[in-house]
Amino acid sequence: MRPFGTTIFSEMSALAVRTGSINLGQGFPDTDGPAEMLDAAARALREGANQYPPLPGIPALRTAIAEHERRFWALPRDPGTEVVVTAGATEAIAAAILGLCERGDEVVTFEPYYDSYAASITLAGAVRRPVTLRPGPDGRYTFDEGELRAAFGPRTRLVLLNSPHNPTGKVFTRAELTLIAGLCQEFDTYAVTDEVYEHLVFTDAAEPHVPLASLPGMHDRTLRISSAGKTFSCTGWKVGWATGPARLVSAVTRVKQFLTFVNAGPLQPAVAVALGLPESYFTGFRAELQARRDHLTAGLTEAGFAVQPSEGTYFVTADITPLGGTDGIEFCRELPERCGVVAVPTQVFYDNREAGRHLIRFAFCKREAVIDEAAQRLSKLGRQ
Ligand code: PMP
Ligand code: GLN
Repeated sequence: MRPFGTTIFSEMSALAVRTGSINLGQGFPDTDGPAEMLDAAARALREGANQYPPLPGIPALRTAIAEHERRFWALPRDPGTEVVVTAGATEAIAAAILGLCERGDEVVTFEPYYDSYAASITLAGAVRRPVTLRPGPDGRYTFDEGELRAAFGPRTRLVLLNSPHNPTGKVFTRAELTLIAGLCQEFDTYAVTDEVYEHLVFTDAAEPHVPLASLPGMHDRTLRISSAGKTFSCTGWKVGWATGPARLVSAVTRVKQFLTFVNAGPLQPAVAVALGLPESYFTGFRAELQARRDHLTAGLTEAGFAVQPSEGTYFVTADITPLGGTDGIEFCRELPERCGVVAVPTQVFYDNREAGRHLIRFAFCKREAVIDEAAQRLSKLGRQ
């Protein structure tokens, strides 16, 4: 694991603390989630939900997860066998890859990819086959169909798909998903979908979010992963889950037993409450984030960045070329000193680093006043 070093998120958050900068690097909100959820957690702590929960998660949470999947995505799940609670989406992703891949198996994924993908694939002794997302003429990130097909082969075990996509803010369209689904079936592979931003697709996105599992022929071969962290602004709780056919869920559970066994006992009942909140919570949260995206996008554009439109997630990417930048890592390391703001270079999320050398990512899951102040500081850049 030596080549993996320290994650960019830790490095950049430490830099923000050290320099007293505004941290638009690591994606975590600076406000707490819904009061009903926080109250339920406090109650559970006081009322003794402090011992090991059952291995797959407490029944109330598994039922709430199944109900949430039905309510929003019309995916039927049996809470007894088709749902497992994990230590964040991160553990679900790791356990899925460890549980489903043999040494030398190949995992097709899109780059830039969330950094834990590369690490988990390596831990499993598997091999990643990245397909590069590139900004198209309209600024939307897209991929080449031929490149995707070429990534599949006889050793492909699974496709690991993140939509809505971190760091690009891309939401895969139905046409793109159909292409992926076709290849999964042609090569008889599994799909593992990371949908932690499932509720953060903005109203002006080209299309709404579609879980790959809902496409024809995909239900029985797809493991769907999500987490409470992003939807309910509680990234430190690390309560995630995987849902899908029982045999895939049991592969995750088998591995999870020996990673953490169980996690977040008193937080599980609270997440069950959150998942059952009315529609207005979810649409309200999305609208808030959308307004913040607009705010930050305007500030970045004003500061001179070429901003790639973001259709969802907590993030927006920007090209540093118009500001004279050539290397995102260098640019992000200097940014705190130049103007007191921290961002994340996206090239670290590529195998083919050249494709992302000039791109950096900003998180907009922060209070409006913080985004305002960051925009103000960034406006100095063009004048330096
Ligand atoms: N996948 C993606 C795409 C993410 O952005 C994150 C960060 N929240 C994770 C997985 C990890 O989620 P968790 O914090 O629930 O482990
Ligand atoms: N998911 C968050 C991000 O992309 C942070 C994850 C982490 O710190 N490992 O910024």
